[in-house]
Amino acid sequence: MMDIRSARSLGMASCSLCHKLCRFVDDDEIAQYCPRCGTRLHSRYPNSVVRTWALLITAAICFLPANLYPIMVVSQLGNDTPSTIFGGVVTLVHHGAYGIAAVVFIASLVVPFLKLIGLVILLIKIQRGWHLNANQCTSMYRMIEFIGRWSMLDIFVIALLAALVNLGAVARIEAGPAATAFGLTVVLTMLAAMTFDPRLIWDKEVGDE
Ligand SMILES: [Zn+2]
Repeated sequence: MMDIRSARSLGMASCSLCHKLCRFVDDDEIAQYCPRCGTRLHSRYPNSVVRTWALLITAAICFLPANLYPIMVVSQLGNDTPSTIFGGVVTLVHHGAYGIAAVVFIASLVVPFLKLIGLVILLIKIQRGWHLNANQCTSMYRMIEFIGRWSMLDIFVIALLAALVNLGAVARIEAGPAATAFGLTVVLTMLAAMTFDPRLIWDKEVGDE
């Protein structure tokens, strides 16, 4: 079996700012500071699991209006045509723009959904002690952090379209109410990935030694 020793099990903690390895008494009641830069030391992010759950649940709630309400409204010759994210994908497919349809579908629907599910699986593994491979869980977390930056693509597409189309007087494109909800979902899942402490994935493995 792999020999895993955590800094915490050896009475140490890494400074979150300058990464100096410091002596650390594992008691959150005692305020301990990094001797080099003065940052408060924590062996794990404080209340990481609870905060991540709170952000994830809020993100999941925002994901509903993001998909049910129109994300953009196209006004042409007095006619307003609202379009949801999925409606937009269908329209793109009808116009034969399969590449862009695939990008919008993956960036706006698949990525946020997989991020939510991925973080929920990691949280349940930590809380319920699911026997999932810690290496695979860490890879999944790395993937969640990496793909997060691409999910704002949809908002950029609308902003770009609106800027381009609004140059002409015939048609106008405006962001719909779902754009705010979608933006919130993306930001909240990003924050959830940041508040999640990936070291928690390994704590159980250290405990098994
Ligand atoms: Zn420091």
